[in-house]
Amino acid sequence: MLPKSDNIAAIATAPGRGGIGVVRISGHNLVDTATSIFGALPPARNAIYTSFKASDGGVIDQGLVLFFPAPHSYTGEDVLELQGHGGPAVLQLILQRCLDLGARLALPGEFTQRAYLNGKLDLAQAESVADLIDATTSQAARCAIRSLMGDFSRVIHQLVAQLIDLRLLVEAMLDFPEEELDLPDVTRRDTKLSSIRNDLRQTLELAQQGSLLREGAHVVLIGQPNVGKSSLLNCLSGEEIALVSDVPGTTRDVIRQSIQLSGVPLHVIDTAGLREAQDKVELMGIARTRSSIQQADAILLLLDANHGLSEEDKTILAELPSGTPRLYVFNKIDLLNESPRVEMHGQEEYIYLSAKTGAGIGLLRDRLLSLIGWHQEAGVYMARERHVRALLQAQNHLNNALLEGKRAELYAEELRLAQDALSNITGEFSSDDLLGEIFSRFCIGK
Ligand code: GDP
Repeated sequence: MLPKSDNIAAIATAPGRGGIGVVRISGHNLVDTATSIFGALPPARNAIYTSFKASDGGVIDQGLVLFFPAPHSYTGEDVLELQGHGGPAVLQLILQRCLDLGARLALPGEFTQRAYLNGKLDLAQAESVADLIDATTSQAARCAIRSLMGDFSRVIHQLVAQLIDLRLLVEAMLDFPEEELDLPDVTRRDTKLSSIRNDLRQTLELAQQGSLLREGAHVVLIGQPNVGKSSLLNCLSGEEIALVSDVPGTTRDVIRQSIQLSGVPLHVIDTAGLREAQDKVELMGIARTRSSIQQADAILLLLDANHGLSEEDKTILAELPSGTPRLYVFNKIDLLNESPRVEMHGQEEYIYLSAKTGAGIGLLRDRLLSLIGWHQEAGVYMARERHVRALLQAQNHLNNALLEGKRAELYAEELRLAQDALSNITGEFSSDDLLGEIFSRFCIGK
């Protein structure tokens, strides 16, 4: 338990009107606050219907109060939850009453930060609280709750436990010169390392998928004016957002739209046609297009199936970053009476479809998901970029250890570094800067 901290208060429910609104206070001495507002400290973990009193004895609101004494609360401290009516003015009055009684306004994420500091959650779980609140797809929400319940942390703890076990063996071997090493010990060491590397590889794979689910992928849609970019985007997203017209150059600017494919957020960037433009607005659109192409995870090059590759398309192709995966999409097959299909031309993948009739859109969705690296949902952990980086670091150190098989000190050191990287995920070795960065991104009241 930490040294005594001040009382913090915040409105915990979203701004705006609602049936119920919740003000939450956490701290070490809520007796005076509770007595002033409700006349007495409410019994632990019982919903009490009562009046919330102002300083002059007048009633601010009526509702439920819940008291969770430390350490059995969200933050691990004493917590009072005041459930009043969900209007901005009345909730502000309740909050102000708590502040007048000595609480201060909570910082974003401060309740969860206290929960972490009091050992109620580890860092990966605390992050998944924010991820659950911010989840934009049902898949992302399901993964976040699994991480919040500790599934991801458990796997990390298991990896750390395996590493500690191996380190004990390796440290014991350090006392002997190499030629005196016991062969069964060396075999045991190598078997253990190989098993940890395997488990780590699987965890990394699931975490990378989770990170994709959280962050989504950026896909650029390129094509000549009138080839059907806006129509394709509308068809993929199932709603009308881009302007569809027969006049070349109507889609002037980069339009970002987030759509879901199998629950994975896809940030599609619809581009201005990359062509010689005269007017200033169009030129600006083209400049933005060029910069978004460089950062994309995948590129869709949309072509008219009736015309195939034009000279202009070839010029654009030459400009595309060679490492970014790409799909050639031939649109308007309905005009040729052709069937939707996927064809391989060397390394290049061609998809034939019609944005107008929707034929072949399913094929495109599947290929697109595979292109951005999505291939599973089961068992995925809601992971952040930070977690993936730490896992990759640990993996590097284990690979180094393998190479240092003959030099015991270096081998032991690589194992120690791998353990540090993993412990960073759950917060055992996390700097204040990292904590500040993580919790400041929470909403107030959480
Ligand atoms: P953009 O300029 O590339 O965004 O092209 P639009 O989406 O505005 O489409 C240009 C024209 O082509 C519109 O009249 C669309 O209705 C038409 N179009 C788009 N896709 C298809 C398709 O698959 N088949 C047919 N027949 N027409 C299409």
